[in-house]
Amino acid sequence: PGPQLPFDKEKKTVVVLGSGWGATSLLKHLDTEDYNVVVISPKNYFLFTPLLPSVAVGTLSTRSILQPTRYITRHKTRTVSVIEAEAKSVDPVAKTVTFTDNSEIQGEVSTTTLPYDYLVYAVGAEVQTFGIPGVREHACFMKELADAERMQRQFMDCLESAAFPGQSQQELDRLLHMVVVGGGPTGVELSGELHDFLEDDLKSWYPELAGKVRITLVEALPSVLPMFSKQLIDYTESTFKESKIEILTKTMVKEVKPKSVVLQNPDKSIVEVPCGMVVWAAGNTGRQVTRDLIAQLPTAQTNRRGIAVDGEIPSPVFCDVSSYSLVDHMRMDGTDGSIFAIGDCTATSYAPTAQVASQQGAYLARIFKQMARKEALVARKAELSATVNQITGEEEKKTVVSELASVEKQLTKLSKLRPFQYSHQGSLAYIGSDKAIADLPFMNGNVATGGVATFLFWRSAYLSTLFSLRNRVLVANDWLKVKIFGRDVSRDA
Ligand code: FAD
Ligand code: NAD
Repeated sequence: PGPQLPFDKEKKTVVVLGSGWGATSLLKHLDTEDYNVVVISPKNYFLFTPLLPSVAVGTLSTRSILQPTRYITRHKTRTVSVIEAEAKSVDPVAKTVTFTDNSEIQGEVSTTTLPYDYLVYAVGAEVQTFGIPGVREHACFMKELADAERMQRQFMDCLESAAFPGQSQQELDRLLHMVVVGGGPTGVELSGELHDFLEDDLKSWYPELAGKVRITLVEALPSVLPMFSKQLIDYTESTFKESKIEILTKTMVKEVKPKSVVLQNPDKSIVEVPCGMVVWAAGNTGRQVTRDLIAQLPTAQTNRRGIAVDGEIPSPVFCDVSSYSLVDHMRMDGTDGSIFAIGDCTATSYAPTAQVASQQGAYLARIFKQMARKEALVARKAELSATVNQITGEEEKKTVVSELASVEKQLTKLSKLRPFQYSHQGSLAYIGSDKAIADLPFMNGNVATGGVATFLFWRSAYLSTLFSLRNRVLVANDWLKVKIFGRDVSRDA
């Protein structure tokens, strides 16, 4: 009944949870000859998150930054199962994952449990709300594709409602005030994109309103973009000033209401500021499924930020990987080494970025290759050892002994896994007005640059990072289309 998973009982089964940066990079590099591979994710596509703010203002269309996961898996030498479902729980002792089809249309079976030999846990993170009242109900997020689409609709709705005849000045000011919460790269890039939309398109389409639109960026810390160098923070702040984007630093959002946002000023006074739209870009937190998994291993998993990887493995008996040395190999602490965790769901010294997750995914693919080679050699060694004493012919025995020696030599070489080493390629962010900023590593130092040339570099860097030629063509085409015809201001649904 139903399609069977690709299953070769001679091979171990790797279950991959997620289809984001970490999982996709792993899938691209993984040799599927060695394992049965199953991918489980509630989204059957990869989302190129760096360009999500561009989708939110209609510079790019949604399809351009998506890549179906099956585009990657169909090129693999052995069939990979892609299941559109959400992992609900992981049992690290029984080594099973239970997952559910959450989509609108479901078959008779919508929940099932699958055993794994290795689990690659790459479910990312969700938006951090800090339990602040009203955030979930009244703010837009900027994490998933649906968030960008929702924001675009709400922004256009604010404009159309403001254009409705008879609005009071006070109501116009409210409807046309856009508040972005969080001065990290997501909040900054989104503010820049909103400004571009205003300047490039809305001035022509809504000439009576465009000049009245206000964008306010609220940040709790003393400055925006704390991960960038001081020079680039100053450059961003002065660019925003020119663009009339107001930055409120040392200001904390305390509540989001349907028509306003409650702020705590630097002097601790509280003000309620009317606004038409709030975009919440205040960082990440772990998903429920991750919290539940962590809770099952209370002794080893004590970090509230996410999954701790590579500590002591308590029972190194179940699987091969535990015989390797205990350094940075992305193995989940407190398990027997059969769960690997990568990307935003982990608590490591690395920043939760696409760069880190994709490098970890590619690294894991190499680890899996090495483990498979080691396992094959162990089997060959056992085979040769069993036959060597039964051989009578001198020449034949010599050949087997020599092969045995060679296998042992290779096994010694493979006994150590190389730890993960992150190679930082630099930080880039778009800040609007055709300007970008970049902190790039250069000869043991750092080069900080900002401006229009950096913007061209930003575009070419992202274009080349897009996984498929199809996406590159679609994104380049969208950029050209917007240059010629402007952005679409029609509001769908
Ligand atoms: P994700 O890419 O988030 O993937 C998680 C996957 O798990 C998704 O496919 C999701 O559908 C799936 N999933 C969720 N729940 C479950 C479940 N229960 N079971 C199974 N699967 C599940 N980083 C940069 O380095 N440069 C940038 O320019 C940049 N720009 C960004 C812009 C925006 C707007 C955002 C939001 C982030 C940006 N980032 C950037 C950060 C980057 O996107 C993340 O660090 C990266 O996505 C982390 O990769 P990941 O694989 O851990 O998680
Ligand atoms: P972030 O965690 O980097 O920034 C969130 C900001 O929101 C913080 O500065 C925090 O002080 C502020 N904040 C939190 N609560 C607040 C409140 N109540 N009121 C006011 N301010 C509040 O989040 P992000 O920007 O979404 O980035 C997440 C990760 O993704 C980071 O690692 C980032 O580097 C990465 N990212 C990178 C890029 C890029 O390289 N261009 C773009 C987007 C995201």
